[in-house]
Amino acid sequence: MLRKQDRVRVAFPNIGDYTGVFEDMLTALDVDVIRGELTEKTINFGVQHSPVMMCYPYKVTLGYLADAIDRGASSLVHFSSCGRCRYRHYWKVQEQTLRELGYDFEIVPLKGRSILKDLKKVNPGVGYTRIIKAIRDTWNAILELERGKEEYCLNIDRDDINILLFGEIFTVLDGKANLDIVGKLAGLGAKPKYALSMSHYIRDGVTGRKDGYLRLAEQYLDGPTGGHGLHSVANVLKAHEEGFDAVIHILPMSCAPEILVQPVVSILCRQRGLPLLTVECDENNSELNEETRLETFVELIRRRKGTR
Ligand code: SF4
Repeated sequence: MLRKQDRVRVAFPNIGDYTGVFEDMLTALDVDVIRGELTEKTINFGVQHSPVMMCYPYKVTLGYLADAIDRGASSLVHFSSCGRCRYRHYWKVQEQTLRELGYDFEIVPLKGRSILKDLKKVNPGVGYTRIIKAIRDTWNAILELERGKEEYCLNIDRDDINILLFGEIFTVLDGKANLDIVGKLAGLGAKPKYALSMSHYIRDGVTGRKDGYLRLAEQYLDGPTGGHGLHSVANVLKAHEEGFDAVIHILPMSCAPEILVQPVVSILCRQRGLPLLTVECDENNSELNEETRLETFVELIRRRKGTR
């Protein structure tokens, strides 16, 4: 149970463009949302207090949540997946780490199958009708956000330099974590597209649905990978079939699902003549290094297409 206070001050882990959408969902439950900030200092805090081999999203969100508590958050709302990768344990391990560091807070993990009850714990004073409305509005806001951004629309113009981005969902979608790959590619005249979106993530999670590319991708793997490993293989097949000029595989260092499928992604790209750039994200990434790699990659595709 949350402590009694006038208004609950809640923080939750950032996730790119969608941070504002989830903020609105919690605000609709009559709580104040406190944002942390992602700076070199807060990321370093997360890195310093995480096991070295922990994946980068864990470290980034740990620093972000600690900063939010410093700014006045008294309660953390965390997403808890029931999948196969380490994500399912994040909330518990982060809770323990922050408590050992002396932080005082409540924590509410949100699970898909008990979402109504979990959201009620965020503010027990709010009724279920309001919670259901907040969830429905959030879903609509997610769809609207994706409709309003070109990167989420997978229709392509063959005259453009079309690049499909896929990999681990947090590092693909969070511009701070990937040093703004989308902005950099757009600045170089390319058309980057996200193969992953929050609406697909939720829809696939709720329905367990697998599209044709996912079913096709299964034949290249011996079993489930967890995370978005299967999606990464499927996205190579999709990029090739749908006429993309190149793909970028974005993954955090030590991300088990993506590292597992990396050789498969690489072989499939080679067999199909599809240019591939692998971008591994961690705290040691350098903006300049990433800029140079992207610039070279786009230039090579441009020459290959003969659009110079
Ligand atoms: S998918 Fe990878 S980066 Fe994301 S939580 Fe799982 S292991 Fe970590």
